[in-house]
Amino acid sequence: MAKDKKPKCGLCGKTENLIKTECCNEWICNDEDQYVAFTFARNSCHRNHRRLTLCAFHYDNNHDGDWTDCEECKNGFDTEDYVNYGTNEYNFKKLSNPPSFESTRCYMCNTVINRMIDEYVMTKDGFCCSSCGVASCEK
Ligand SMILES: [Zn+2]
Ligand SMILES: [Zn+2]
Ligand SMILES: [Zn+2]
Ligand SMILES: [Zn+2]
Repeated sequence: MAKDKKPKCGLCGKTENLIKTECCNEWICNDEDQYVAFTFARNSCHRNHRRLTLCAFHYDNNHDGDWTDCEECKNGFDTEDYVNYGTNEYNFKKLSNPPSFESTRCYMCNTVINRMIDEYVMTKDGFCCSSCGVASCEK
């Protein structure tokens, strides 16, 4: 058995439709040709890595050095987004010492809003969670 000879996606382990990432030269699966517009299915690790990680952002913006200690990346985002982008599941390696940050909270009900996954609205008064309702927040 040819153990571990076959490349597989470093994120989900799939062995089909693999490409190498431009930013970090890792095997990653790419289902973008099967992507059905408007489904918003997050089935391509490649697309997620390109869109939702500091690794890809750092590469796209031609920063120097390693993204994990890049000041430009750090200054380019709110700390919360920086930590999310640097520690989410679409990363091959994650920030080892993510800076601490004050969680975003709904200004109406004080629920913590995870800006990566939760829906929210930005209002002139602050962030508002989806359960408080878009309509009521926008008043
Ligand atoms: Zn994958
Ligand atoms: Zn990368
Ligand atoms: Zn950078
Ligand atoms: Zn709320």
